[in-house]
Amino acid sequence: MFIRRLPKFEYHTPASMAEALGLLKKYGLKARVIAGGTDLLLAMKKRAVAPEHLVNVKNIKTMKGISYNEKKGLKIGALVTLEELEGSALITEKAPALWDAVCVMASPQVRTLATIGGNLCSAVPSADTAPPLIAMGAEAVLSGPKGERTVLVEKLFKGPAQTKVARNEILTHIQIPKQPDRSSAAYLKLMRRAAMDLALVGVAAYVCLDKDEKTCKEVRIALGAVAPTPIRAPMAEQMLMGKEVTQALAEETGKVAGTVCSPITDVRASLGYRCDMVEVLTRRAVMEAFGRINGKKR
Ligand SMILES: Cc1cc2nc3c(=O)[nH]c(=O)nc-3n(C[C@H](O)[C@H](O)[C@H](O)COP(=O)(O)OP(=O)(O)OC[C@H]3O[C@@H](n4cnc5c(N)ncnc54)[C@H](O)[C@@H]3O)c2cc1C
Repeated sequence: MFIRRLPKFEYHTPASMAEALGLLKKYGLKARVIAGGTDLLLAMKKRAVAPEHLVNVKNIKTMKGISYNEKKGLKIGALVTLEELEGSALITEKAPALWDAVCVMASPQVRTLATIGGNLCSAVPSADTAPPLIAMGAEAVLSGPKGERTVLVEKLFKGPAQTKVARNEILTHIQIPKQPDRSSAAYLKLMRRAAMDLALVGVAAYVCLDKDEKTCKEVRIALGAVAPTPIRAPMAEQMLMGKEVTQALAEETGKVAGTVCSPITDVRASLGYRCDMVEVLTRRAVMEAFGRINGKKR
């Protein structure tokens, strides 16, 4: 595709959330938040969007950092880059499914710029951080003129490139609740090549076992790139609830997941192939999450 020079815009670098929200209020629909710019600047070059004002939020300290609290769980600032996530011991330990995702995203160069907040706010159906965050029950915390509000990541998306983050709001951080004992999650991504590609299919599975350490007490399965937004697969989740995880049951679960998605056929893969791959990846992600509870690493 022919990529042109960037259109003209005015660049703002607020030092605080209040200042950034003030700029969004002042310029309204003419303004856009920019973080790493890895999605937005390309969209501007393609003239898909042409904001007259860019509000760079990268100096807002409250949007940075990864921390863990025994009660609240994991807090990830919206400005945390994919590179930071990849190198974080907290992420590998407390949110391995998210770590699975960032390791297979983009290239090292892009990962140094791209932020987790930008990935969610871009809201492409194949956004890799969405399925693991949905599977782990994560919430997005937004700041706006009326203060803070919280939205489940699962409910954040409205359609391709559309979120419930209003144009006068900023995603400040993501909160992943403390994951219970005997639980784990995994994310698997299918690409046409081994790196630097968007997901043809992405599947995250979260499994929490009962005290007997066998029966599934809670299950969440989230699918990416196979519907207009990342989605849950509740019928597939029900297949596992109250039952022991076995290879055969994981296979059945995969088959159900393959029926709930609604992918498109495009240059990268056909609808039928994507549905088949949802089956395979769901089975594998469930078994991987289950295996991780028992301490087996890939
Ligand atoms: C070569 C290449 C490879 C890529 N590979 C992948 C991949 O494998 N998987 C994948 O999922 N993505 C991939 N991407 C897409 C992109 O890198 C990610 O979506 C990235 O995480 C976006 O973050 P950013 O900080 O660059 O967002 P930006 O480009 O700065 O912003 C993206 C959008 O989000 C909005 N926004 C950003 N931050 C906030 C905030 N805090 N609050 C409110 N709105 C906000 C902006 O206004 C804009 O609309 C790739 C991109 C490139 C260029």
